[in-house]
Amino acid sequence: MKTLATLEPLIARLREVQHLNSAASLLSWDQETYMPPGGGPARADQLATLQGLAHDKLVSPEVEALLMQWIDPATGQARDQPGDAWDEPSRSLLREVWRDFSRARKLPSDFVKRLGRECSLAQQVWAEARGQNSFARFLPSLRTIVALKLEETRYLGYRDSPYDALLDTYEPGATVAALTPLFATLKARLVPLLNRVLKSRAAVDDALLFQTYDPTRQMEFGKLVLTAMGYDFDRGRLDLSAHPFTTSFHPTDVRVTTRVYKKEFSACLFSCVHEGGHGLYDQGLDQERYGTPLGEALSLGIHESQSRLWENCVGRSRPFWRCFYPLLQQLFPEQLKAVEPDRFYAAINRVTPSLIRVEADELTYNLHIMLRFEIERDLIEGQIAVEDLQAAWNDKMRDYLGLAPPTDAEGVLQDVHWSLGAIGYFPTYALGNLYSVQLYEQARRDIQGLEEEIAAGRLTVLKKWLNQKVHRWGRTFTADHLIRRVTGTPLSPEPFLAYLEQKYGELYRLSS
Ligand code: ZN
Repeated sequence: MKTLATLEPLIARLREVQHLNSAASLLSWDQETYMPPGGGPARADQLATLQGLAHDKLVSPEVEALLMQWIDPATGQARDQPGDAWDEPSRSLLREVWRDFSRARKLPSDFVKRLGRECSLAQQVWAEARGQNSFARFLPSLRTIVALKLEETRYLGYRDSPYDALLDTYEPGATVAALTPLFATLKARLVPLLNRVLKSRAAVDDALLFQTYDPTRQMEFGKLVLTAMGYDFDRGRLDLSAHPFTTSFHPTDVRVTTRVYKKEFSACLFSCVHEGGHGLYDQGLDQERYGTPLGEALSLGIHESQSRLWENCVGRSRPFWRCFYPLLQQLFPEQLKAVEPDRFYAAINRVTPSLIRVEADELTYNLHIMLRFEIERDLIEGQIAVEDLQAAWNDKMRDYLGLAPPTDAEGVLQDVHWSLGAIGYFPTYALGNLYSVQLYEQARRDIQGLEEEIAAGRLTVLKKWLNQKVHRWGRTFTADHLIRRVTGTPLSPEPFLAYLEQKYGELYRLSS
């Protein structure tokens, strides 16, 4: 039986690629946290050089020669000699390295550079256009990006829809054919549920969240919750940035960021918990497998499942606040002493259709994603033109959420993704929501008394379960395989819909 030891020459090269990527990630983290504003252009050049080196090292003749010894390029699977098969970890590693290698090799390096440069420019134009509320200002850049992404789909190849080639970048195996019915099911149940919530007479008021909350104390509370979750501050940090994110250079050095507003409570805490969920995944990856796919996160959808599980299933639940609300009241006695736990719970779970995706509640969030999925799919399939995006956006916003964006900044220009060339990324947010509830329901079945543990502040029982079931495996399994393995069923919208119907049925006193 051939094992990972046989693959050591390949693994040594992959580690070097990862060292370059980790250095680039550190530069990016610094750019978002501590870099002085003047450093931008030089930093973009430094990053481009490192990313170029990493790309070249991965698609090098040395790596290709090693892979060709062990892989059948027609199937992308490890080649077995009679009587000398590969063990399972080696098979997974070879399958995933081949995926990365063959995808990277399909993109000409001239194209990679052009895309990188155009995206870097487009990002600046997008920020200006958003500031000026002008989609017209962003339009020429967006036209360039979309043309480049279409070029990319031709290099990568696809069977049915060119959008599949882009989806596969972020969520391996995801296709229009699979997502369309999945999202249709979601929409068919979410829209009526939202309408019932909006018509209900139960008044849910969240004004209490918009009092003055001292930023230092907010950060203190965020750290306290992260620590309780099992986020290891010896192997991690918490810093501030304009848009919260998580980055990792190695399982022993994982960084999360949050943002804090003086007049609003939710942003800081729920960003800490959300990013903390991502951070636990990165800290929980197998250190021995660092640099190989077995030591990397599986997909963006699975990554997002970890953040949403902690943010929503745990952080917006009654058991969690049974433990943490008294602590929060101690930190903010003036603001919260007279507020009953039920009122606080209702406030953090208030449903209200909103224009901005990142501020959306659990019920309306996926409608924001479906809107983007349909627009991106139609754009890449040539059903709509870049010029029509603003109108398409506003129409769908009215259909799904009953709102008309008063400005482009609150509409079609709100997200950074398109300027980065990240078309096909949004659906992973919705998948993450579905995976999160399916995994959490399984955790409740597997861990006896899980909610009592959470109510007692012992959150690490859940962290350990996730370490065992999800984190430590990296890319050993595909997402589909992992979810079947852990929950016994394929991905389904049912657990998520049942969870929302139960939670909001109770909160808004909807009769069934
Ligand atoms: Zn996230």
